[in-house]
Amino acid sequence: MKVKDYASTAGIEVFSPVSHTLFNPADIIQKNGGKPPLTYQSFLKLAGQPLWASSPLPVSLSSLPPVGDVGYFEISEVPTVEELGYKGYGQEELSPFRGGESEALKKLRESISDKEWVANFEKPKGDPSAYLKPATTVLSPYLKFGCLSSRYFYQCLTDVYQNVKKHTSPPVSLVGQLLWRDFFYTVAFGTPNFDRMKGNRICKQIPWSNDDELLAAWREARTGYPWIDAIMVQLRKWGWMHHLARHCVACFLTRGDMFVHWEKGRDVFDRLLIDSDWAINNGNWLWLSCSSFFYQYNRIYSPVSFGKKYDPNGNYIRHFLPVLKDMPKEYIYEPWTAPLTIQTRAKCIIGRDYPAPVVSHDSASKECKRKLGEAYALNQKLNGQVSEDGLKNLRRKFEGEENQESGRRQKQKTLTGWLKDH
Ligand SMILES: Cc1cc2nc3c(=O)[nH]c(=O)nc-3n(C[C@H](O)[C@H](O)[C@H](O)COP(=O)(O)OP(=O)(O)OC[C@H]3O[C@@H](n4cnc5c(N)ncnc54)[C@H](O)[C@@H]3O)c2cc1C
Repeated sequence: MKVKDYASTAGIEVFSPVSHTLFNPADIIQKNGGKPPLTYQSFLKLAGQPLWASSPLPVSLSSLPPVGDVGYFEISEVPTVEELGYKGYGQEELSPFRGGESEALKKLRESISDKEWVANFEKPKGDPSAYLKPATTVLSPYLKFGCLSSRYFYQCLTDVYQNVKKHTSPPVSLVGQLLWRDFFYTVAFGTPNFDRMKGNRICKQIPWSNDDELLAAWREARTGYPWIDAIMVQLRKWGWMHHLARHCVACFLTRGDMFVHWEKGRDVFDRLLIDSDWAINNGNWLWLSCSSFFYQYNRIYSPVSFGKKYDPNGNYIRHFLPVLKDMPKEYIYEPWTAPLTIQTRAKCIIGRDYPAPVVSHDSASKECKRKLGEAYALNQKLNGQVSEDGLKNLRRKFEGEENQESGRRQKQKTLTGWLKDH
């Protein structure tokens, strides 16, 4: 709006069609009495079928109109990667996914050529550890940059559905995934301060910790949990991970283990994902931290057993964390439990070649649940209107309890040491 106002006062005509999404978020919000729908199901009901979907989309393009008179403004070239602020990136760190519209269309054709796969697509059933052939389309970076139209993608999918006997439906189907995208765009468009906790009426007010050491361990793949660290390496190297892998690391950083603010994790994703998208990234961080949309904070992803279910041999970990490539499969998800002889044979001594866990999942996850329970109770009592001071007091209480607990552990340690010595 600001850009439009500015442009019109400067006499510049602005044309801003809505075509990045399936629906116009403003229409959905208007149909809902001026507020964005906050559940996927209510969004689906309001949205219905997109009007444009009944006729074929024009696929031949008219040439771009001439730029015209730009007055005293300069037309700049496409900025280089360095100009965008990404410095010192080595060749081996480049993502395996190539950019551009031709690549997007090729990938789309490959995905939809397997009609059975499209018809049976059911998220969240895919394998998050599949990296040689990812379990989903990997079209997100192309949608984000406009190399692929979500509307064209939608039409291709509905064409496939018309040619098969049965197919899955939203929320789990592939069309359902595109609708998740539109859902988050709509809520993001209609929610002031959607990208932060403060002043965001749909976000639970939670006194997250600002522990920079834990944050750095998570960001730099040094948590000591191979499943979590491998995902963070994939993020750094590829800029893309499977949806459930994103779930695991986002849960670990926030409500699962570290209790670090979701905004910090969001920033890391925003910087490193090649599909980073303001509405979708913030929406999913709100979801995963149990700050909005999803509230079952007792359901936590185990950083050990979740990945093991899909990849018992730990091939994904071996690929992204080569330091663990010779660790026997019995220990690959918990290498700190391997006897020293095994660590030596695997050429990976825990604490030297690969870190010991920065938190103990069992106690950390219990703590997180307890803290969230208290924070939820405060939000409920105050009907979401938790003040700065209220949040500070709860944070102080948590910190006091933590200090007491570490003091108790220290005393226990000293006593055990004393008993040993005497
Ligand atoms: C913490 C967290 C942060 C995320 N940040 C982003 C982000 O910045 N950008 C982004 O595009 N996706 C994000 N996602 C959503 C999702 O993980 C990716 O869209 C998906 O993994 C992309 O892979 P794909 O293209 O193979 O997906 P497919 O499963 O093939 O789905 C097709 C398309 O549907 C859309 N889609 C799928 N899942 C979701 C979802 N949960 N929410 C909204 N749209 C969805 C995407 O545009 C995707 O390309 C995030 C998820 C989490 C848990």
